[in-house]
This record gives sequence, C-alpha cells and structure tokens, in this order.
Amino acid sequence: MGFLLLLVLVFSQVTGCGNLLTGKFESSSRAVQVSKDTNGETLEIHFLDVGQGDATLIKQGDHAMLIDGGNNDKGTAVQSYLQYQGIQNLDYVIGTHPDADHVGGLDVVMYKFSWDTVILPDLQKDTKTYQEVLKVIEDKGKKITYPVAGDVYNLGNAEFTIIAPVKEDYGDNWNEYSVGILLQFGENRFVFTGDAEEEAEQDMIAQKIDLSADVLKAAHHGSDTANTMPFLEEVNPVSVVISCGEGNSYGHPRAGAMNNFRSIGAKVYRTDEQGTIVVVSDGREITWNCSPSESWKAGEPGGTQEKELEKAGTDRGETNRETAKTEYIINTNTKKFHEKSCGSVEQIQEENREYSNLTTQELEEQGYEPCKRCNP
Ligand SMILES: [Zn+2]
Ligand SMILES: [Zn+2]
Repeated sequence: MGFLLLLVLVFSQVTGCGNLLTGKFESSSRAVQVSKDTNGETLEIHFLDVGQGDATLIKQGDHAMLIDGGNNDKGTAVQSYLQYQGIQNLDYVIGTHPDADHVGGLDVVMYKFSWDTVILPDLQKDTKTYQEVLKVIEDKGKKITYPVAGDVYNLGNAEFTIIAPVKEDYGDNWNEYSVGILLQFGENRFVFTGDAEEEAEQDMIAQKIDLSADVLKAAHHGSDTANTMPFLEEVNPVSVVISCGEGNSYGHPRAGAMNNFRSIGAKVYRTDEQGTIVVVSDGREITWNCSPSESWKAGEPGGTQEKELEKAGTDRGETNRETAKTEYIINTNTKKFHEKSCGSVEQIQEENREYSNLTTQELEEQGYEPCKRCNP
C-alpha cells in the first residue's frame, strides 16, 4: 500500500503540475558563460518524491539520466514515473553512494530500462542492497565507470562535470564518497552532491572548479553535517531543493541547514512539502512547477509523523491511516526493533535502518527482538 500511495502521490503531482506551460512559475537566471548551444530545446529536472531518499530524473531532448533511485521499496514507483515520462533509454545512471535510500531502487530500474553508462563511487560494499546493484550491472554485461573529478560528459545539448568525490579515502563515512556533478545547460547550472558532508564540501571548494549554480540540490536531505556556509557561498544558488520524507526520523532538514539557506537568500523547494518538483530550463530562464516553500520548518529528530497525526485526530482518511501504521524502526543488521523516539535509533547506520508497519508480535515472528533500552 505504501508504494501504491507513493504512485498516487507521484502521479497526482504529475497531473497537478504536469502541464509545464500553464502552471504558476517562479523565474530566475544568472549570467554565466554558455558552454554549448541549447538548439532551442529545454532541460527538465524531476526531483521525485521518494520519501526519505533521493531520485532525480534529468531529461534533455531524447537523452536522459537518473541520479539515484530511492529506497528498495521505491524502485517500482521510480520505474513507473520514468515510463510515464516516456523514457526509453538512460544515457547515464548515477548511484551517488551505496546507502539504501539512494541505490535501493536502482536495480529495479536498471533491469527494466536499457542504459549506457553507470557511474558509482569506487567503494565496494557487501550489503544486500549494493550487491543487487552490482548484480544487474554484471547481468547486463556492463562495467562500472568510476567518477574522476573534472571529467566532463555530454547529455544531449547539456553537459555535466564530475565535482566529487575528490579524494579516494574518506574512511568509513560512505556519504563523503558521494558522486557530485555540476550540470550545465546554456547559461543555467545545477549542482548535485548526494549525501556529501563537510569534508567533501571543503574538497570540492579546494579543487578550484567553478561551482556557482542557479540551483543546488541540498546535500544529505538538508542535514546540518553538510550544507556548510563556505560551500553555499561558493555555489551561491538562487534556489535550493531538499529531498526528504515528511516527518522523517532523522530530523531532516535540520535547523542549522535551513538557517544557512535563509542567510544566503536562497528560495527553498522541498519534496516533503511539495511532492515531486519539476524544473525546466530553456538555457536562460528556469521555471518551476510549484512555488517555493514558505514554512522554513526544520525536521524533528525522532520524526513528527506521530505527533502530527495525534494533533489531527482520527478522521484524516486513507492516506494518513497508512502513515499511522508506521510504528517501529528496525535495524536489519542487529535484528532489533525500536520505538521511533529511542536514543539508539540515531546510531543505526542509514543502510540498516527501516520503518516497519508490523506489530511487535509480527516482528518477533520474523526474528526481530525488542530493544532493551526503549522496550517497544
Ligand atoms: Zn547516505
Ligand atoms: Zn541519503
């Protein structure tokens, strides 16, 4: 049901805001050197609402690329969205880093669609999710392309430059290995950095590639371990897009990051409030399928889903009854389950952390044990 719900959400966004010629748009532009002729065409960027995770579709003429595919349970929804968009082939698939909320849904998409090049950081991980991605690459007889900072790729009349990772070794912090790109179409520029955090941001600045852009996709779902002031000043975006789940347990976007976005005067768009966000560039002007967020609301660690449901009472219809069923956080590695408010939840690796709608009894039947700290 969760996935059906997402489909409905994705499609309602498409039908609600899909007519890109008649919607209400905010425009912005900046004078930057033109890299290639746009030939009178447009570039579309779709920031898909995949809950807590990332999935971005970029289309230029007959060319397309996908950056991340949402969590494991979102693969089919991403696939449906791509089909609805008439995608036949993906020129590039980028898995920014091995975390499940980024590469989880990629295997489904990579089996269903033909694709030319897959770019993944040089970071082999033996998690089930990542092995599934490696398996589809092998099954299709392809090889991984590793990102090299400074390399430039063509996407029709657009082009993108690899801006991260800059270093080979960031220890155990997978986020820092995120593949980052600067996408340019005519005069318009867009920066994507996956879940890169402070150290990776410093390295991107230090390598002296011009990072200035019209639009920045906020790193790490608007976490305050990223989106540092020096990096934001370097990119100096007119607009920032945050991809995060409504009431997520990580408290994304964090207040510190929101303050930074506000202090550089950026407009903020966010998938937890606005659903799927679509940006269209004609090479000079950028138009949006929705108005910027005005809430400036930061997330709450532990999540707000439950609190909001309590406030709203019980008559909120199917959509929220679905959400209300999400009761526990499970650790797929230790096989423990926790209350959402449990202090241990924050320490669970993103890769191993999942929501569960199951009852305590059902979880125990599946081999999960209650956490001794929060006694769910
Ligand atoms: Zn991550
Ligand atoms: Zn993430």
